Amino acid sequence: MSLPNCPKCHSEYVYEDGLLLVCPECAYEWNPKDTAEAEDGLVVLDSNGTRLADGDSVTIVKNLKVKGAPKDLKQGTRVKNIRLVEGDHNIDCKIDGFGAMKLKSEFVKKL
Ligand SMILES: [Zn+2]
Repeated sequence: MSLPNCPKCHSEYVYEDGLLLVCPECAYEWNPKDTAEAEDGLVVLDSNGTRLADGDSVTIVKNLKVKGAPKDLKQGTRVKNIRLVEGDHNIDCKIDGFGAMKLKSEFVKKL
């Protein structure tokens, strides 16, 4: 699973409780949508220059080779509930038939 670490104590053992995320180590509870908006640091733009946010849905804008996968990721594939991360491949996501993977934001378009 790709739950974020606790924003207070950075524990990895965060779990979901309904819409909230809960940290068992420091008992902090938060709504992941709130922190996505509060954390303004990470700016990730799609192929059109539209800013992406955690939880957005996007489509792939070109066929992409996937390392270790038997097939290409097809243009037009929908990707739901993305998570923004730092780095070269700045989108963390899960894609049906491929599983968890990282994408470059320049190859997606916000829905
Ligand atoms: Zn914590």
